[in-house]
Amino acid sequence: MNIHEYQAKELLKSYGVRIQEGLVANSPEEALEAAKKLNASTGTSWFVIKAQIHAGGRGKGKVQETGSNGVVLAKSLEDVPTKAGNILGGTLVTIQTGEEGKKVNKVLVAEDVYYPGASEPKEYYLSILLDRAKGCNVIMASTEGGMDIEEVAEHTPEKIIKEWIDPKLGLQAFQIRKIAFKLGLEGTAFKEMVKFISSLYNAYIGSDSSQFEINPVLKTSDDKILAVDAKVNLDDNALFRHKDLAELRDLAEEDPLEVEAGKSGLNYVKLDGNVGCMVNGAGLAMATMDMIKLSGGEPANFLDVGGGANATTVEAGFRIILQDPNVKAILINVFGGIVRCDRIANGVVEAYKSIGDIRVPIIVRLQGTNAEEGAKIIDESGLKVSSAITLKEAAEKVRLAISA
Ligand code: GDP
Ligand code: MN
Repeated sequence: MNIHEYQAKELLKSYGVRIQEGLVANSPEEALEAAKKLNASTGTSWFVIKAQIHAGGRGKGKVQETGSNGVVLAKSLEDVPTKAGNILGGTLVTIQTGEEGKKVNKVLVAEDVYYPGASEPKEYYLSILLDRAKGCNVIMASTEGGMDIEEVAEHTPEKIIKEWIDPKLGLQAFQIRKIAFKLGLEGTAFKEMVKFISSLYNAYIGSDSSQFEINPVLKTSDDKILAVDAKVNLDDNALFRHKDLAELRDLAEEDPLEVEAGKSGLNYVKLDGNVGCMVNGAGLAMATMDMIKLSGGEPANFLDVGGGANATTVEAGFRIILQDPNVKAILINVFGGIVRCDRIANGVVEAYKSIGDIRVPIIVRLQGTNAEEGAKIIDESGLKVSSAITLKEAAEKVRLAISA
């Protein structure tokens, strides 16, 4: 699960990680209030206004309606409400949102931390994530902060420092010092970085996260190390033991169909194609999507209804697939292992009748226990549903349906 930058920063701060201080606001008036409070608590008179959406690249991104960037600097209190107003309610398009962009409902008003001083502020990159190939967490760091890290990895991979963490030992003090040293830090900044990485790792472990990306981490002109940005990805499978973090979920940031599917216990991912598919088991779902492609179609979704599919789950699946306007045909591909095919067939017929007006052809392929009985129920239902026993037959029917 993803959370917003302002939530991620609060989480980090609760573990002692130094952050760029800020307050969230829902309107230009609240933004002004937030700036006044920040001025009182930190003394800052310049402010950064940052769109809160679940996507990166905001600094370079543009709000469609106003042309404002997604991250802007306000050099006075009076500037804050106007600049916040140019972002709030707008549609922010960044390299990560796709061209349709994302609606901005909140902004973070933060203190300016790039103030001049004894040295130049310098941006670094830090992330912690699970290295699935090595089976352990890895810390990645780079002096090339603020940049697109994929670019750095591609063109100058030697500029990315990696430290793998032995799960039995945890992150060792010498490893942290090694990273700070390789980043070229010394004196106060070195000590600050050691503290920063150590508390960041505690936050990562303590929150059961699967990914932290802090880009940039800033060394201020007076040698403080702090998080200017924070992307936190929480492990969904551990949320049951973090009720407070689970509440940070922002449904407005998620695909509405995926949210609805989740409520019915369905595993649904929306895709761009024209053939809706409903399958039991993730492996069979992937094989089915391949088959749709081979027959000339493109899957409109991934949908795994799980092992115990019944009339209720089939109906929920139908309703979700039918809300996608691109769908031209639906393929149901179910293996009757735990569940019998005649029960699934009855479920399909019931769901069809209960929804009523279904405008696209449905091809049902049932295989396994009672497959023939299932096919018979489908064929005799009198509905716009046709059955198939083999994959080849199903593929042919899908091809005919979408070319009609
Ligand atoms: P992203 O573009 O979505 O990754 O958003 P970031 O939070 O990383 O911010 C984008 C850029 O805004 C940073 O790389 C900085 O260059 C700039 N920025 C962020 N905070 C400040 C600040 O306090 N002062 C100034 N001058 N620039 C800032
Ligand atoms: Mn960033």
